Amino acid sequence: MRTKKRRNTMKTETEGLILMNRAVGDKNRLLTILTRDCGVLGCFIRGASRPGSSNFSATQPLTYSRLSIFRGRNSYTVDEAKVICTFFEPGAMDMLHLALIQYFCELVMKTVPENTDASQPLDLLLNCLHLLKKGRPPLLVKTVFEIRLAAISGWMPHLLYCEHCGAYEDETMYFYYQENVLRCQKCYREGSCCPLSKGALTAFRYVVSAEPKKAFSFQVSEDTMRQLSECAERYILAMTATHFHTLDYYHQAAALES
Ligand SMILES: [Zn+2]
Repeated sequence: MRTKKRRNTMKTETEGLILMNRAVGDKNRLLTILTRDCGVLGCFIRGASRPGSSNFSATQPLTYSRLSIFRGRNSYTVDEAKVICTFFEPGAMDMLHLALIQYFCELVMKTVPENTDASQPLDLLLNCLHLLKKGRPPLLVKTVFEIRLAAISGWMPHLLYCEHCGAYEDETMYFYYQENVLRCQKCYREGSCCPLSKGALTAFRYVVSAEPKKAFSFQVSEDTMRQLSECAERYILAMTATHFHTLDYYHQAAALES
């Protein structure tokens, strides 16, 4: 009885998106999961390698599942998994979408720590997967994902005014993505920065401050989108100080499509 009680207190019921699923030996798998209540976790699962097994479909990559996770002394184990919905459609996705989603997963693994409330990054990622599935432009989804993930990871972009003179707007302003500061034309100085037109800065401010689901609802010209997307990418790369190979694949696929 005592043993059972102790075991129950080590159990967590949560939901999570399966980011990775790798074989460990013949029968077991190691999952990387973005869970709602415990951040990104590496979890073992026994006997989910066969398509017929009960946990098989609920532990495929890009499947959002209800999970029962047991916390052992040195590791986590998924006891039971049930599909809520799946974004795992390898046949239906092109290289660009596959690479982009892999990049999102890598970013999440880099930015979301273990054992933290991860509702915000999880909802953001689920929303992005829904929008990509619905056919929204990958560049828009990528840009908003990068900006919002940075903001909820503690790297809120400082976009309110020029750090030197306090100007709110200018024909062009410069975002110094490594220092996270904004400067107007008059106060421009050397440094790693991205130019932002009035439209690009307005969109950037909107994405940062909008309600989560409304952050994708803005329209800008192709040039403005290009400026904003370059800025968003440089910013998240500077903040995470990481080179993502999946991002290289995304750019290769995007170059082939254009
Ligand atoms: Zn200034």
